[in-house]
This record gives sequence, structure tokens and C-alpha cells, in this order.
Amino acid sequence: MNADGQSKVVFDDPTEMIGRPDDRLLEYYNTQLMYFKDTAKGAGWPNETDRRTRFEIMLGAIGVGDARPLTLCDLGCGTAELLSFIKERGINGVRYVGVDRSADALEFARKKHPEAEFHQIDVLDPRAVLGKLEADYVIANGLFTVKADLSQEEMRCFWTKVVDKMWSLARRGIAFNLMSTIVDWERSDLFHVSMDEAARLLHGLAGRNVVLRADYGLYEFTAYAYKQQLASSPSASTSKSPATLGSVPVLQPSMPTKRALSRYLDRIDASHVYSNHGPLSLELAARLSERFSLQPHTLVCASSGTTALTSAILVAAGRANRARPLALVPSFTFPATALAAEQCGYDVELADIDEETWMLDPRCVRDRSDLGAIGIVIPVAPFGRPVPQEPWLAFRAQTGIPVVIDAAACFEAYCSSRSERPGLLLEALSFHATKSYSTGEGGAVISQDPALVLAAAQSITFGFRGERVCSAPGLNGKMSEYHAAVGLAELDGWNEKAGAFARVAEIYREEFHRVDLARFLIGPPDIASCYMLFRASSVPIAARLRDALDAAGIGHRAWYSLGLHSQPHFRRPHHSAFPVTSSLAGRLIGLPAGIHLSREDIRRVADVVASHA
Ligand SMILES: *Cc1c(COP(=O)(O)O)cnc(C)c1O
Repeated sequence: MNADGQSKVVFDDPTEMIGRPDDRLLEYYNTQLMYFKDTAKGAGWPNETDRRTRFEIMLGAIGVGDARPLTLCDLGCGTAELLSFIKERGINGVRYVGVDRSADALEFARKKHPEAEFHQIDVLDPRAVLGKLEADYVIANGLFTVKADLSQEEMRCFWTKVVDKMWSLARRGIAFNLMSTIVDWERSDLFHVSMDEAARLLHGLAGRNVVLRADYGLYEFTAYAYKQQLASSPSASTSKSPATLGSVPVLQPSMPTKRALSRYLDRIDASHVYSNHGPLSLELAARLSERFSLQPHTLVCASSGTTALTSAILVAAGRANRARPLALVPSFTFPATALAAEQCGYDVELADIDEETWMLDPRCVRDRSDLGAIGIVIPVAPFGRPVPQEPWLAFRAQTGIPVVIDAAACFEAYCSSRSERPGLLLEALSFHATKSYSTGEGGAVISQDPALVLAAAQSITFGFRGERVCSAPGLNGKMSEYHAAVGLAELDGWNEKAGAFARVAEIYREEFHRVDLARFLIGPPDIASCYMLFRASSVPIAARLRDALDAAGIGHRAWYSLGLHSQPHFRRPHHSAFPVTSSLAGRLIGLPAGIHLSREDIRRVADVVASHA
């Protein structure tokens, strides 16, 4: 026997889904059921008395003093006799969810308990959606006892995989029973496991919060594992401090692994090209423009979003001059927008945003009295909501004033066919690690006009035109081959990452719906997946909420601060008020985002927000 519980990856390959070993367990139970119908024998148990003892012990997982109501997920519920037992015993406050792979068993279960919730789901199917199975307690009664004709190794693999799933679905704890090895003989058709092995598996999940019970007179034991310290343990505290619950960071970026990068790093080693629009950076540009459904040569990679924006400004408007010294920037943005304009010699003039779109309104800009002094306008796509180009092209045509767009977080929007498209204006994207799609540090300039993109490429290469001849204002804003390698690996894994982001967004919607606050939540696909925003109904409520999140150890962020006018560097004596920005920024709270978030994390966020909103 393999004592360390390690097993061959029999279950990991999705192509093996067609013939998984535990399919034979399903067959076994279906055959039993066919012969013996809805009886103990039909469920593979020797007799009714023993079965009821097991129910009793299994329900012991739910402590007598446990807060009710609670949900109980019965994995491998069969004909749901456990629910009959719960009803007979008059145990109140338990919402039961039955799960089984067998349609035949569930047919019996549904007939007996039409009001209860049953799901025919294979929890090991990687495509299975398991959200509905989350419960306070997840138990498996007799799911790991019959081995049928599976090998010990196959059965061990099944057991450990399912227990992992149970643990991830349980809010408070799990329980299951196993055949003991402290018996006169081990039956070859049953799965006997030593208590040590079971304890080791559970300790790996639950630390010391594990109980093994073998006091009920059968050749088996029941194992319980809990997520929080047991109330009866001597060191258990009655109230949970935030520290024991663990903090939730506002954003934990997730980047391609070393392994995903290696094939691209090998190519760098072979080519000895490390920067200067090398093969990887060009390949990344081509693949990105394809992702965005753009023509070739409509995108050039840059070293950051800020350098991309700087070069776009230089191409569209050049450096500031005495006649037009001002760059018009929305008050609601990240400082990089304004800093890029300053790099090009402009004095930054702030303008308030539109209440609906959170963007500059071209009509308001056109009506400004200082229009004659404005050398460039930089609308910002807030949180990755793209800026419609048509009105700005019209603005440019009417006023002659150049426009470039800070589209920093628009990667996902431009992957989607449903949103606004990039047009003839220059736009800058950011691939910083905090953005949904990332190269670590990086960015890109895009436009449907290839001549402008070529000029931007020259601008981020010291203004070189041809061989090392500086013919235009420029900077070093090139993307290195190493960052391009990250970008290519990130693109390889993008569909998966996007799926993970979508699941997090879905859980957010469900959890905020549960606490009846979904209407205040602003998340993807409306904005980029690296953001999850809560719009409090007033500035004081938002302030209270921030305090509550702090106290609970939940990270939050004002992504665009309280407006650029609140940042010392951009404060001007002549500044009037920016009422829309001030009101919005005061109420908007950036909640934790990122694919690492568990339902438990998000539930905590929702609960804290709900108790203070
Ligand atoms: C992220 C971001 C930037 C800066 O991009 P970097 O790649 O970090 O230079 C600029 N503007 C906005 C609106 C951003 O969100």
C-alpha cells in the first residue's frame, strides 16, 4: 500500500473522462438498486439497522449547538434515505441538497422528497458547475466504502479527489466514513483505509480541526474535518478575529508561470535579441491586433501604458508650445494620464466628467472658454469602458485640436465584438500586472491608421526614423523581449484566465444578490475584470464601509483616488469644484478583484458590505 497517499494521476486527464475508474462504482450501485430497489441493500449496505447507525454518526458532524439554519450537502445521496431519517428525527433547520451521479437513484429520491433539492452532477467532471452544491456541511455517507473491482490505488485516487472537492464546497466542515484496517480481515470488495492515512489527508486540509470516530460498533470509522477551530478544543476562541479568518487582498495579480514562459525564453536564448522590436515583441503585436480583430500594423508594443500614452501624445500633437500650452485631462483618472502629458511639456488642465459615462463629454469640452489654449485632449476609458471615437473625431475636425485616448484597461473590451472599437485616433493600452491582461510592465499604442502606429513606434524608439537618425521628439518606450515573452504566454492562457475572471464576477453577482445589493455592484463585462466596484449611495456610507472593510481585513482601493484635483501635484489655486468626480469618487469603492478569490472570500466581502451599507 502506498502510505503517503500519493497516487498516479488517473483522474487528471480530461481525455480519460470517457472511461474513469469510478464509473464502475456507479455501475455497481445502479445494479444494486435495480435488484434491491430503495432498501439498505439497494444502496449497497448489509442491513437497515447499521445504515441508521451510520446516519446518526454522520449527522454528528453537525454539532448539537450548531447555529441553524444550515445547509447540508449529501454527496452520493442515492435515494436520499438520510433525508428521510432527518425528517423522522424531527431535526429542524437543515436545508438538504442531495447529489448523485445516478439518475435512477435520484428518481426514487425526488419521488419521496419532492420539496428537496437534488442535482445529478459528477463532481469530478472538470466541466461541472458546482456552485449549487456549496453548503455549510458536505458529507459523503458510504461513498468511499465499496471498492467493487477498482484497485486500491484507483479507489484512493477517487477518495482523495472527492474529499478535496468536498472541502472546497464546504463552508464549515465535511464528514465521511471509511472501512477500518483494524479488522480481522479486509474484504477485497471494500476500501479499507488506515486511520493514519485518513488523518494525514484531513490534516493537510484542516490542520488540527479533525475528529475520527470509531466508537459505534461497526468495522469502520467516520472522519470529520472543520474549517474553524472546534468549539470544544481547549484553545478555541469564541469570537473570530479578522486575523484568524485571513485577510483578502484588494488585488492579487496572477501571471504566467515559469513553465508557461520557458518556450519563449528558449527562443530569446537562441536569437540573442533582447529588445528593439525583436521577434517576440512583433509576434505579440501581431497576435494582439488579431485578438482585437484589427488589421496588421495597427498596434505597437511599449514598455508601459504611460510610455505608450506619451508617444501617442507626441505623435498626435507634438510637444507643448507657447500658443497651446494646455493638455485637457479628466479629473477622474489615474495620475499616469496627466503625467504623460506633462512629459510632453503640457500644463495639465482638469475637466469634470459626465455623470452617466464617467468620461469627458466632447460637447462640454467644445464649450470651454480656454479652448484656444488647449493643445491636446486626453479622454480616459474609465475602468476599461471604451471611449466612443466618433464624437471625438468630430470634435477634432471642428476644433483642429488633437485627441488621444487613454484606453489603459480596454484589453477585454477590445477582445469583445460587442463593444466600441478602436478607430483612427491613437489609443494607449496598459499591460501592467494590475490589469486583467498583463506582461508585468508593458503597454501598446493602437490605431486603425497604420501610419500613426509607425510614427508611435519611432517615437518610442528615440524618435529614430531609419537608421539611428533622431528626427522627431521621442523617448525609450520599447517593450523588451522578456516582457513580450510574458505577453505571449499570457495570451496562450488567456481563455482560461478569462473564464476564471468570469466565474469570480458571477459569484460576486450571486453573493451581492443574496444580500440584496447587486444593484450597487459594477463589474465585468461592463468594466475590466481587474476591477470590482461598489457604488455606495452616499459619501458618508462609503466612508463607513471603508472602515468596516479595514476592520475585517478586506482590501479596498480608490483606483482613481478622490480625483486628480485631490492629489497635491495636480492641485491648482484656480481650480473650481469638480462636483461629479468628487461625488462619484467619494462613493466608489474598489472591492477585491482577481482570479484567486474564493466564494468564501467574496461571501465575506458581501456580508461586511451588507452590514454597513
Ligand atoms: C493602469 C493605467 C495607466 C498606467 O499604465 P502603466 O502601464 O502602469 O504605465 C494609465 N491610465 C490609466 C487610466 C490606468 O488605469
